[in-house]
Amino acid sequence: MRAPVLAYIGLGANLGDPVAALQAALLALGGLPQSQLLRHSSFYSSAPIDSSGPDYVNAVAELSTTLTAPALLLALQQIELGAGRERPYRNAPRTLDLDLLLFGSATIHSPALTVPHPRMAERAFVLLPLAELVPEQINAADLVAVQGQGIWRMAG
Ligand code: AMP
Repeated sequence: MRAPVLAYIGLGANLGDPVAALQAALLALGGLPQSQLLRHSSFYSSAPIDSSGPDYVNAVAELSTTLTAPALLLALQQIELGAGRERPYRNAPRTLDLDLLLFGSATIHSPALTVPHPRMAERAFVLLPLAELVPEQINAADLVAVQGQGIWRMAG
């Protein structure tokens, strides 16, 4: 049995009822095999970057898992499919997007998976919720660099 790893998953949605989509995704993450959903950040609302359509709702979840990183990615993709995600074109608006941001201290460069997620440091909608959970892992200069991006922490 592998030792559990702390994995951080970025959640985003901007179609339909995005808050409901994120709540359903958190439930699904909590139901993954060999995994435990430990915490999640507040929900944030953010203007689309490299995408279009209504504002996104974003959050980050902390999962303890003994799944491998590729198995976890597959599970995330199945949750996305279950949420009715279609991929008509790259960066299209989506009902649910799940990104594997961090997988313990692993560095992974495979055709299917890059961890840490390659664009996480440039995105306020990842850095702010992730900083709620693991502030010590966030580079202060990265936070300053994304200050101009439109993002609001949602009440509740
Ligand atoms: P997206 O359309 O943004 O959900 O991107 C999904 C594609 O990115 C899939 O083909 C994944 O194999 C790939 N990918 C690479 N690294 C990651 C990662 N850390 N988290 C999620 N998807 C990833």
